[in-house]
Amino acid sequence: MGTRRVVVAGGGLAAVRVTEFLRRRGFDGSVVVLGDEPHLPYDRPPLSKEVLTGKVGPQNVTFKDELAFAELDVELRTGCAVLGLDPGRGVVETAAGPVPYDDLVVCTGARPRPVPWNAPPEGVFVLRTVDDAAAIRAELERCPTVVVAGAGFVGAEVASSARALGLDVTVVEVQPTPLVRAVGPQVAAAFVSMHRDNGTDLRCGVGIAEILGRGRVEAVRLTDGSVRPCDLLVAGLGVVPNVEWLAGSGLRVDDGLVCDGQLCAGPSNVHAAGDVARWTDPRTGRSARGQQWMVAVEQARHVANRLTGGAPGPFTSGRYFWTHQYGHHFQFAGDACAPDVRVLCGALEAGEFVVGYGDGRRLVGVLAKNRSAAFVRAKTAMDRGVAWDEVDGAVLG
Ligand SMILES: Cc1cc2nc3c(=O)[nH]c(=O)nc-3n(C[C@H](O)[C@H](O)[C@H](O)COP(=O)(O)OP(=O)(O)OC[C@H]3O[C@@H](n4cnc5c(N)ncnc54)[C@H](O)[C@@H]3O)c2cc1C
Repeated sequence: MGTRRVVVAGGGLAAVRVTEFLRRRGFDGSVVVLGDEPHLPYDRPPLSKEVLTGKVGPQNVTFKDELAFAELDVELRTGCAVLGLDPGRGVVETAAGPVPYDDLVVCTGARPRPVPWNAPPEGVFVLRTVDDAAAIRAELERCPTVVVAGAGFVGAEVASSARALGLDVTVVEVQPTPLVRAVGPQVAAAFVSMHRDNGTDLRCGVGIAEILGRGRVEAVRLTDGSVRPCDLLVAGLGVVPNVEWLAGSGLRVDDGLVCDGQLCAGPSNVHAAGDVARWTDPRTGRSARGQQWMVAVEQARHVANRLTGGAPGPFTSGRYFWTHQYGHHFQFAGDACAPDVRVLCGALEAGEFVVGYGDGRRLVGVLAKNRSAAFVRAKTAMDRGVAWDEVDGAVLG
């Protein structure tokens, strides 16, 4: 048994994957996970999908049970918030006292951006935790009229789940179309029609000016002056990284914990992975914070490799994500901030399509709706560096 001790701050996806990759690579020192939630670590994607529709109970989204953590020889401390960091002494502070580390992996994730309006005490929710999902699920069972603020991935999935339950749903999005940044303006139109075809009242280009109701939300007033009655408001306004506990540590924080290309956050024994980590993507040269499941897993693998003597190169991500909306499965990989956009198969208005994004020379991004096999072919071609004018042949086979 080695004597080195890796402490993982945070108890979500990235934290669990770091511990698994460490053990898989033969790390034989001690591993301690400090998570502030009272629950066993759990997966978040089902929360806005199967948990809200009632297909999966909130108790059924955990990654593994206590026995499995014990078998992995990982000491899991739930309900244990990390309160501070002193890199000079090599300790993190908790209410139960300091916890020393040889290597620290920061995996404290992110939390929903708080609602900017004066909210009544009841009927207004955000969705990040399993407790949020259980509370919203209970509300969906008794609230026939729902307003969702924000048509990003979480907002769109909440709307889709509420529609699946037959509820009256309005989505309010300040941008002219949903998901502009994620999929680009040309393709975002497809998401507009999908909301509307499924009976969701999508209001783009307006915001919520005010929440109406005394003890509980009764309606929202939009910035165009119209009033939408509702019994429940769910806000999906993006996330902010959980970095406050790093104040005074000397580590650089700027909308995330700033890391170098190796996901190292300053001192060579402090790394970060998951939604909290900000790094410069070597492929695009842009500073980025991944907010997708697969990016967290890739970063966890990279950090675990580094800690066990591997991963000599900088961290690169395939930037893959998926989303389920209104019974449709979307997959994306790469970069949507590209000048060329072409439908490679299907049609944007249809039930299935594959869209390619090009930078003038190469295929740099792929989005598919209900076309997993074609998506894999296109992504493989992209990873091989296929030229933009050879994309059709590579994808259609
Ligand atoms: C509702 C929902 C649906 C999603 N669906 C998809 C999807 O379909 N596809 C996709 O690609 N991605 C999806 N995601 C995103 C994906 O789940 C996240 O990218 C992923 O969870 C990030 O993992 P993480 O470990 O970095 O952060 P988290 O999962 O947020 O885990 C961080 C943990 O650290 C804890 N923590 C915070 N501060 C402290 C502290 N000071 N001390 C101790 N612990 C602390 C937090 O409470 C949390 O438990 C979804 C996210 C949500 C919320």
